[in-house]
Amino acid sequence: MRKEYEELLKLYKESFLVEEIAMLLYWDKDVTMPSGGLKQRAEQIAFIAELGHKKKINPRKGDLIKQIQEHPDYENLSDVEKRNVYLIQREYTKLIKVPPEFVGKFQKQCVISTEAWEKAKEEDNFSIFLPEFEKMIEYNKKYAQFLNPIVDPFEVLLDYNEPGMTIEKCDQMFNSLKKTSIPLIEKCLSSSKKPDMSILNRSCSIDIQKKINEEVLELIEFDLERGRLDEYVHPFTIGTYDDVRITTKYTEKEFLSAILSTIHEGGHGSYEQNIRKEGSYQPVGTFCSEGMHEGIARFYENFIGRSSEFWKSYFKRFKELTKDIFADISLDDLILAVNNIKRSAVRTEADELTYNLHIILRYELERELLSGKIEAKDLPQIWNRKMKELIGYEVKNDAEGVLQDIHWSGELMGYFPNYTLGNIFGAQLFAKFKKDSPNWQEELEKGNLKIMINWLKENVLEKGNIYDPFDLVKEVTGEEVSSKYLIDYYEEKFSKIYDLN
Ligand code: ZN
Repeated sequence: MRKEYEELLKLYKESFLVEEIAMLLYWDKDVTMPSGGLKQRAEQIAFIAELGHKKKINPRKGDLIKQIQEHPDYENLSDVEKRNVYLIQREYTKLIKVPPEFVGKFQKQCVISTEAWEKAKEEDNFSIFLPEFEKMIEYNKKYAQFLNPIVDPFEVLLDYNEPGMTIEKCDQMFNSLKKTSIPLIEKCLSSSKKPDMSILNRSCSIDIQKKINEEVLELIEFDLERGRLDEYVHPFTIGTYDDVRITTKYTEKEFLSAILSTIHEGGHGSYEQNIRKEGSYQPVGTFCSEGMHEGIARFYENFIGRSSEFWKSYFKRFKELTKDIFADISLDDLILAVNNIKRSAVRTEADELTYNLHIILRYELERELLSGKIEAKDLPQIWNRKMKELIGYEVKNDAEGVLQDIHWSGELMGYFPNYTLGNIFGAQLFAKFKKDSPNWQEELEKGNLKIMINWLKENVLEKGNIYDPFDLVKEVTGEEVSSKYLIDYYEEKFSKIYDLN
């Protein structure tokens, strides 16, 4: 059976390598490729994607899995080896349940829908997107039915996007988050402490910003010998192990946005750089889940990039590098501006606290769209009404409303909850880190981020994919996943910053 196991891992490694190559093609397209190369690149990407899919659904894998699992020696495999077999089986069964013709049709529809979405957004006209969106909803339902025909399609998609995620868990966590966030936002907004937002729009040359971002990357220990930082308008991360590439976006009048993007992507990148070495190119040597990846990136972005501890330690150097631009600004002014709470239209520009409400809105709508409780044609009105209810924002047009995200034109539904789930995972891990490191605050204020990063490495990053996400959080913190820690964190943080109570 050893032979079969080794062969299975070899086949897994092949599809992993193809995926790594595909990611490089995407990175190159966005970062360095001349614009004229787009058509040629599209062909290369399509070719490699098909090759990757074929490798993933190679029927030999199915035979090997069966032979291994039914072999009398199966019990002699170590837990890690069994986990490898299980993870390959999980991916394989998911993929072979969906017929290849359907995958092809769905992918084509995604291209058409994305084009329609772009046009609709540009012209602020939902009706251009509507017919394609209706088809996307049908494709989503169909996809879910292939995976599991007897369970509610949205439930199937949630679990597809994040193992272990259910409607019940989402409802429970999101409802308590909603109930506590709305009044807390209200309190922050009516506090006498008002952030001076103009600070964040002061001109800061790209050269200075680059210097700051490079330093910050070094502080969070993103390894530039095994990684790169480049520029792209929608920052993203690709790569694994010893070749990890992150991107950020510089705008002269938005220095903070670049710093937070760099820290966020640096978090994604550090995750990849620190995954267990002994399992590289095996399923256990990959990240735990999309939600956990996002959780780690947000851990870096919020608990470092938006924390008073980090800014306290970096403020002097920040002023030095920016010369007289922020000479008149106090540390408190900056921390307040970095943590300004506002009712706003766009998810990606939302503050830490209202961000989750943007996600909950999408979660509730996706669920009702898939169950047929609401119809796609009514979405703009429902969207605007919910924005008012949840965030208190009056949507001006569909471009800044229902058409703002690309997701519904090119991906399966049920992904949005991962962003908030990431915040929930992160906060529970952060609480445990604080408990394990009583002097954490002092250390972070001194600029010693190592204490936090080492904790993360040991407890999460190096564990790779040994556990499913909900099990990993339980293993590390000793408790079931709960939104309680995120709620406590918000209450404590914003009460202090906005002088509440
Ligand atoms: Zn991210």
